[in-house]
Amino acid sequence: MIFETLAKSGHEEVVFCHNKDAGLKAIIAIHNTVLGPSLGGLRMWPYKSEQEAINDVLRLSRGMTYKNAVAGLNLGGGKAVIIGDPAKDKSEALFRAFGRFVNSLNGRYITAEDVGIDVNDMEWVFRETSFVTGVHQVHGGSGDPSPFTAFGTLQGLLASLNACYGNEDVGKYSYAVQGAGHVGMEFIKLLREHDAKVYVTDINKELVERAVDDHGCIAVGLDEIYDTDADVYSPCALGGTINEDTLKRLKCKVICGAANNQLASNEIGDEVSRLGLFYAPDYAVNAGGVMNISLEIDGYNRERAMRMMRTIYQNVSRIFEIAKRDSIPTYLAADRLAEERISTIGKLRLPHLGVTAPSFHGRRGN
Ligand code: NAD
Repeated sequence: MIFETLAKSGHEEVVFCHNKDAGLKAIIAIHNTVLGPSLGGLRMWPYKSEQEAINDVLRLSRGMTYKNAVAGLNLGGGKAVIIGDPAKDKSEALFRAFGRFVNSLNGRYITAEDVGIDVNDMEWVFRETSFVTGVHQVHGGSGDPSPFTAFGTLQGLLASLNACYGNEDVGKYSYAVQGAGHVGMEFIKLLREHDAKVYVTDINKELVERAVDDHGCIAVGLDEIYDTDADVYSPCALGGTINEDTLKRLKCKVICGAANNQLASNEIGDEVSRLGLFYAPDYAVNAGGVMNISLEIDGYNRERAMRMMRTIYQNVSRIFEIAKRDSIPTYLAADRLAEERISTIGKLRLPHLGVTAPSFHGRRGN
């Protein structure tokens, strides 16, 4: 049964990690290492069943293969989950036990922060393995990725405007930004630097006030964001906001934002395409975060990070080209770009067999 599932999803390896004393129940899923070691975050969640945890780690690790491939990284896709409540079940022993399992994979899987995990948890993991990114800046880590993700989102926007309007004049267009959190607020600042008209909404009223008072945005209601006359809809909060209800209300020509899983379903993605909207696939646009942590592997450098974010422009442009070439929606074109890259590069390289710790330059463990 499990091997049937793995055959369908294409996973290379799934590791069940157990340590009774530490209370560790974790699963590490390595989806594909053709491009390089698998990189993807560790999620801690009180899964209702083991099956739910397995489904999640398989789905998320596969997603990382596509994201890392489109981002042009020499990295494959992996992910890990710890079954537990992040509010109650965290301990030094738990994360060190997890770190030892990561280390045993000898670099085939590199971990990072995801939902339920913070930089302090990563310190414990880092005690046991070098195969970890998203560690604190004092250890040579990269710190908060949000400004980079926002800058990357701007690159995706430039490519989208070019595909739709044939120019990249950010200030000429109007924007509906949903979510003024870590990424959204930084993105708003970039848009306002170009004097663009920006509508904003957030469930956090203070953030909306800040966007209006400090950055000159126009506040709209939570639901009203779908009815504005903005040229660009920019989801920077939740997933699934492009759905049957909202799509018929959107008046924009371009959809480009940082949120994960923006399309409620593939059918909605098809409909977006039929309506002639220019949808910049979320995982290509918001790759700034993973690009940023990937640089920790060779020694983090801010300038290299900014340079790398600019490649999002080429990636998103290429996706629009493939969509046109093959007459397919852009969400499928993004998958095709990932598969083409894995296939082409895969012919040049053997599956990755693990890196040695010394290639993790510039960082000190304890
Ligand atoms: P965040 O939590 O700082 O910001 C999200 C904001 O959305 C919050 O201010 C929240 O109040 C608001 N929000 C929640 N529900 C809302 C709703 N219904 N309507 C309007 N606003 C709502 O998170 P973030 O780090 O800014 O990430 C934003 C999105 O980008 C997420 O989907 C995240 O997965 C994705 N993303 C972030 C990064 C990164 O570098 N932080 C990287 C890749 C993807």
